[in-house]
Order: sequence, then structure tokens, then C-alpha cells
Amino acid sequence: MQENCIFCKIIAGDIPSAVVYENEDFKAIMDIAPAARGHVILLAKKHCADIYSLDEDVAAKALGVVRKIAKAVKEELKADGLNILQNNGEAAGQTVFHFHIHLIPRYNDDKVNIGWEHLKYAEGEAAKIASAISARIN
Ligand code: AMP
Ligand code: ZN
Repeated sequence: MQENCIFCKIIAGDIPSAVVYENEDFKAIMDIAPAARGHVILLAKKHCADIYSLDEDVAAKALGVVRKIAKAVKEELKADGLNILQNNGEAAGQTVFHFHIHLIPRYNDDKVNIGWEHLKYAEGEAAKIASAISARIN
């Protein structure tokens, strides 16, 4: 547990939350300021700031838990779609520096804004970046 971390306090039960799911590694709660009704955040129980410092075994388990919750959210909220979102770093919109994954129910014609302008690569640029990234993966 990290001092002054709001999600660590929620996991410890020191700050109340609406709990959706809990197991050994994760606690899923309702986001207090949701992008849409039914917006859930899945918190890793062991404090780490972001994806880069997440334990490999916890990372491997995360998508299985997200899948279970996604199905329940879609069913209960009768969502037409669902975004899975995970922010790392201030530049990416992260505001709470304790690893978490957003599940955001979506509806046809809703006003939730998760999008970007699509850029274009110059000839050969994508391949060059791909091999540079590839060389760093271990
Ligand atoms: P992010 O911007 O990806 O770091 O997401 C942090 C999320 O945590 C935001 O969507 C907040 O609304 C949510 N949040 C902050 N404090 C609480 C809290 N006490 N209970 C539930 N959700 C919270
Ligand atoms: Zn924490």
C-alpha cells in the first residue's frame, strides 16, 4: 500500500466504493465520475503506478477479469458497445497513478468522446518504427 494513494485506500476499505468484483489480485469498482452510467474501473490490488511497473503475472490475469466484467456490464446496462481503456502517464490522461483499467459502456449516438484524428505514415516509416519497437521487446 502506497501512502496518499486513493486507490490503495479504496482497496484497503479505508475509502468507500461501490464494489463490482473482487479477487486476490483485483478490485473492480464504479468510477465516481463516470464517462457513462455503468463505467467500471478495475484496480490492481498491489500498488504500481502504470503498465510499465505491473507484475507480469498480474498483467496476464487482467484481461480474463476484464472479459468477465465486460460481459456483465454489457448485459446489465444493455450497452451497444464497450470501450476498454487504460491510461499511462499524464500525457495519456492518467490522473490516478495506481494501475487501473476502464470499462466504459457505449450506446449508439452517445456523446462519449474517445477518438483521434488518423495520421498518415510516409513510405517506409511504419516498417522502420515497427522494427525499432520490435528490437526493444524482451
Ligand atoms: P485515470 O484518469 O485513467 O487515471 O482514471 C482515474 C479515474 O478514477 C477517473 O475516471 C476518476 O473518476 C476515478 N476516481 C477518482 N477517485 C475515485 C474514487 N474515490 N472512487 C471511484 N473512482 C474514482
Ligand atoms: Zn495505490
